[in-house]
Amino acid sequence: MTEYRLGILKGDDIGLEIVPVAVKVLQSAVERYKDIKINWVELPIGYPSYLETGETLPVKTLSKLYELDGWILGPIGHMAYPQNDPKAVNPHPILRKKFDLVSNIRPAKSYPFISSLHKEVDVVIIRENNEGFQPDRNMHKGLGEFMPTPDLALSVRVITKRNSEMAARAAFEIARQRNGMKKVSAIHKNTVFKLGCGLFIDTCREVAKEFPDISFETVVVDTFAMKLAMRPQNFDVVVTTNMFGDILTDLAAGLVGGLGMAPGLCVGPHYVMAQATHGSAPDIAGKQIANPYAMIMSAQMLLSWLGNQKGDISAIQASEDIVLGVEKVLNELRLVTPDLGGEASTEEMGTAICEAIKSMA
Ligand code: NAD
Repeated sequence: MTEYRLGILKGDDIGLEIVPVAVKVLQSAVERYKDIKINWVELPIGYPSYLETGETLPVKTLSKLYELDGWILGPIGHMAYPQNDPKAVNPHPILRKKFDLVSNIRPAKSYPFISSLHKEVDVVIIRENNEGFQPDRNMHKGLGEFMPTPDLALSVRVITKRNSEMAARAAFEIARQRNGMKKVSAIHKNTVFKLGCGLFIDTCREVAKEFPDISFETVVVDTFAMKLAMRPQNFDVVVTTNMFGDILTDLAAGLVGGLGMAPGLCVGPHYVMAQATHGSAPDIAGKQIANPYAMIMSAQMLLSWLGNQKGDISAIQASEDIVLGVEKVLNELRLVTPDLGGEASTEEMGTAICEAIKSMA
């Protein structure tokens, strides 16, 4: 029996609706296998935690995470936190940094009956997660953004060989595992950022030599944005730096039905965190209309990742069952939330996926 200890961190706003649905789906998939078990550990985070404990990221939550195999983090609505309270921190960049979650894996996949700008899209973007232009995580201490005078703002961009190499290696390994074109595209702007993007691209080239079975190309970010918008089917696995990846993954989501269709997994050498690409969507929170797909598929990626790490066939199989259950609901039953043109509630879509999994031979 392989036991997994997984954390449930619901986050804010729609997180309170979509995370429980993702947990239910994962549990339904795992229950079909006698040799795996998940021990769930629910931990406070975000604004609900602030109201309860006075902190958005309690020390107890942080220390418990070190004992887990992985966790599901719901979206964080930090823009609505009290701005002047040091205990109301934005938790997710802290988690990404503290647990060295260097690679953020974000797939964008179209489905035949889901209305989208493009069909037959199946691309995975790996974004370096902890440096680049993001000032809330690119420094050891302090912020990578400051104002020497009231009319001058400076933002520092950080690129390291270590993190570039880890993101690139994740991209090549994923390209090797997938039944895709076996191609990695590295996205950069070394025409201007000669040192930063230069280091990133040189590092990707070095890693590419270890993967002779995977073809490799480099594309300048502005050209890539145009190519992705026009012909996303030409891309398989993409790797890029933090800010470019942040923007391009939302663009990719827009090509396949919107942010509700954008799952993600943050991985590092020791820890793994399921986290959808989208935010906490306060505009639709509490209405049971949020699309749970992104959160469910983030959890599916977590199970698949852990299964592969531990060589656990049942966990891998259970994660594949989730994919099939989701496909059945999207392609056959078409029981989907309003953002995808349906009338199902968040819970109804989740329950339909659970039922589809349970009824599999
Ligand atoms: P958002 O991603 O929350 O929402 C953008 C739009 O997409 C909204 O119209 C929303 O209704 C829609 N949307 C998002 N997820 C959806 C889903 N699952 N189903 C259906 N529709 C969905 O971005 P925002 O409004 O700019 O930000 C809201 C809050 O989330 C802010 O506090 C922001 O800082 C935060 N945020 C957090 C993360 C994260 O936790 N990873 C990412 C982005 C933004």
